[in-house]
Amino acid sequence: MMKSINPATGEQIATHAELDAAGIATKLDRASAAFDHWRTVDVADRAALLVRIADAYEANKDRLARMATLEMGKTLKSAVAEVDKCIAAFRYYAKAGPAMLDSNAIPLASGGSATVTWLPIGPVLAVMPWNFPYWQVVRFLAPALLVGNTGLLKHASNVQGCAALMEEMVLAAGGAEGLFQNLPIRSDAVAAIIADDRVAAVTLTGSEGAGKAVAEQAGRALKKVVLELGGSDPFIVMPSADLDKAAEQAVTARIQNSGQSCICAKRMIVHTAVYDAFLEKFSARMQAVKTGDPLDPVTGMGPLSSAEQRDTVLGQLAEAEKAGAKLLLGGEPLPGPGAYLSPGILTDVPLDSPFMEEEIFGPVAMLFRAADIDEAIRIANAIPFGLGSSVWTQDEGEKARFVRDIAAGMTAVNQMLASAPEAPFGGIKRSGHGRELGPYGVHEFMNLKTVYSG
Ligand code: NDP
Repeated sequence: MMKSINPATGEQIATHAELDAAGIATKLDRASAAFDHWRTVDVADRAALLVRIADAYEANKDRLARMATLEMGKTLKSAVAEVDKCIAAFRYYAKAGPAMLDSNAIPLASGGSATVTWLPIGPVLAVMPWNFPYWQVVRFLAPALLVGNTGLLKHASNVQGCAALMEEMVLAAGGAEGLFQNLPIRSDAVAAIIADDRVAAVTLTGSEGAGKAVAEQAGRALKKVVLELGGSDPFIVMPSADLDKAAEQAVTARIQNSGQSCICAKRMIVHTAVYDAFLEKFSARMQAVKTGDPLDPVTGMGPLSSAEQRDTVLGQLAEAEKAGAKLLLGGEPLPGPGAYLSPGILTDVPLDSPFMEEEIFGPVAMLFRAADIDEAIRIANAIPFGLGSSVWTQDEGEKARFVRDIAAGMTAVNQMLASAPEAPFGGIKRSGHGRELGPYGVHEFMNLKTVYSG
């Protein structure tokens, strides 16, 4: 039995029965049978389903958003924004997706040409986290359905209500049984599904540990895997930056989703010439964040996703302080029920401490001072992750250096990093491999067939 616990109150709001082995086998049969038909359906009809799914999300926006808030604590406002982003993604793939599947001819030196054509590969298993319970799934689901694959979802145990609603939306839109199925299972049931011949590939968003386990299982079965793992993104502020804007965005970039996003800016690296001025503006804004009931429209930040997640962050802060870091402000549990934690700032984190290898999944920023651009880049790259980055400068030469030299899958210039349905999303190093979103993401789970014809 999986439990949904409201992290704002600590109260249990629902339980969800787990699927047994026979139930899983039935769902795999359905996914496979649905694929046999869906792959032959005209892409225009597949795109039309995406539009109807977007309509279903639109019609159920409040229900969807409320479930996310109740299960994992994000503010209702941000949950609505998340559902809106999902709607935009379904519509984007419906409109722009079919052209991404066009065949094209490659001239051969020996004469004639070969044609490359994109074909689906089969049921794809998605192992997904709770932090953006809809958006993380849609990043895989919209392209999967568009290209003719079918989808199986193993969602995080604490957001099974969201998972069930997602399956309901596809069925409400007229999607055939088996096209997209929720598997209410725990992580120990995943290995057998990856090994199963009916499953073609797997995608995972989550922690390094989960990524390693799933990648190993996929490797044994010789199946393709896309991994979107953790990050400890740098947010670099240079002397020419608009400091007010940088400080304001740094707060949002750190505390969004209560600090629980893989692309949250987790390390603020500030040029020494503007360090004190930035710190003053940044700390004032961090202290002004209104933390409280996520259902209240004036709340800026809700609780963390669970008491366990808050304990993890508190443990990390203790570890950082043991390694020599100073907790300048915040990072404290709020009294009363609920997994609340105040926004915080850590300074003096030693670059060579094992702590630098961790992702702080909570609203606490690390602050570093850099003497020049070389040192800023060195600090930015001094971690095992390489997901996103945000750089603040008006200097064209510095912008070019950051784009070339920061080891990350994404760099945002003079803005905080946010994903968009149209642009590739993903990282390097221990942040994973492969890309989601945009044309590159669409092609990850496809058979690029080369056709020679005489
Ligand atoms: P996990 O990585 O453990 O969970 C993500 C998903 O993977 C869940 O569906 C989980 O299922 C599943 N999973 C976990 N272990 C395995 C496994 N061995 N085999 C198959 N599936 C598995 O995240 P946590 O919730 O435990 O969070 C821990 C840390 O992970 C966070 O503090 C944060 O640093 C990072 N994280 C990063 C995310 C990102 O967006 N990059 C998202 C979430 C977490 P189940 O819930 O049943 O365990």
